[in-house]
Amino acid sequence: MNTISRPFQLLSRTRPIRPHPLSPIIPKRFVGIPPAFLLDDYIPRYQLLTSVDASKKRSRAYAHLRECNLCPRKCGVNRYETTGVCLIGAETAKVNVIAPHRGEEPCIQGYHGSGSVFFSGCNLRCVFCQNHDIAHQRKGFDLTPEELAEWYMKLQMIGNVHNINLVTPEHVVPQVALSILAARDMGLKVPIIYNSSSFDSLESLELLDGLVDIYLPDFKVWKNSTSKRLLKADDYTATAMESVKAMHNQVGDLSFTSDGIAKKGVLLRHLVMPGKEDEGREIMRWLAENVSKDLYVHIMEQYHPDAHVGKKRRVLKNTQDGEREEVRYAEINRAVKDEELGSVRDAAVAAGLWRFCEVDENSSAFHL
Ligand code: SF4
Repeated sequence: MNTISRPFQLLSRTRPIRPHPLSPIIPKRFVGIPPAFLLDDYIPRYQLLTSVDASKKRSRAYAHLRECNLCPRKCGVNRYETTGVCLIGAETAKVNVIAPHRGEEPCIQGYHGSGSVFFSGCNLRCVFCQNHDIAHQRKGFDLTPEELAEWYMKLQMIGNVHNINLVTPEHVVPQVALSILAARDMGLKVPIIYNSSSFDSLESLELLDGLVDIYLPDFKVWKNSTSKRLLKADDYTATAMESVKAMHNQVGDLSFTSDGIAKKGVLLRHLVMPGKEDEGREIMRWLAENVSKDLYVHIMEQYHPDAHVGKKRRVLKNTQDGEREEVRYAEINRAVKDEELGSVRDAAVAAGLWRFCEVDENSSAFHL
């Protein structure tokens, strides 16, 4: 039997060694992490860059801002002079919230929280956006890369966080790259997480290679008609396929140190959508066949109607009734059913995936 193909547990526990009759019982620490995904120690990738590589990354970051092709929108604008679809310029990134966050996966939030930086603005326009107030309303404060780096240091030193978690950063990758390089010079030591919609360009991911330790991509929908209608993006699925493959090529499958905290690799999220479980099943099959059967996957159940979904819209009719009201995006104006979630999970297992972010019913611990 393949030793890594069984479920394991996040929490360590004690297990007595069979003692010599004259020896006292000494408890031995047992940590259930598959050996292939257990790291003795971990040094973040940005700490291993040479100074020459770091300089090249800086120059590339500035060049991208002068002719922006950092996401599949490929606006080609000089962001020092104007803005593209994401509406964010070059000198700063707009940030909504910076704080230790305890709402992430257990292996990411750990014991002290994940040092989350929520960027305002987005290059997608998901009609159901679960972070609508942050991503679409561009509220927040403007920070230079150096100011961002100072916040990372505060999160590390005061928050004692396990990582820096960059949430919705696709449209500010150059500023993010510059901030990581500045923080490395200030003494940052925790891994960097790139928490993305997967609507990234390959150029952008190339700039991040060597700076990011954990990729936390969503794979949202499968059909082009769905991405057009619900994400307002034409080529989402093809882009997400390329992006997830490129991310996995850089950092591989998710690995942990013995405390159960993730340090390196890809953790893929899929938010199951009402009535779209067929798309979820396709995504799972594609991931198993094209990325890795050892991919760590979080099949998420927390979808709720938000943003534009369920809002009333008046429709004029040329009838005696005059106006009537319609609910927008009625097909996803409900929670997800257990059967829908179950069918995506079953398809994932059938495809060969086995590392899921979920509780082991036998032990009440999270699988790693
Ligand atoms: S990051 Fe912004 S400006 Fe650059 S291509 Fe994407 S939407 Fe356009």
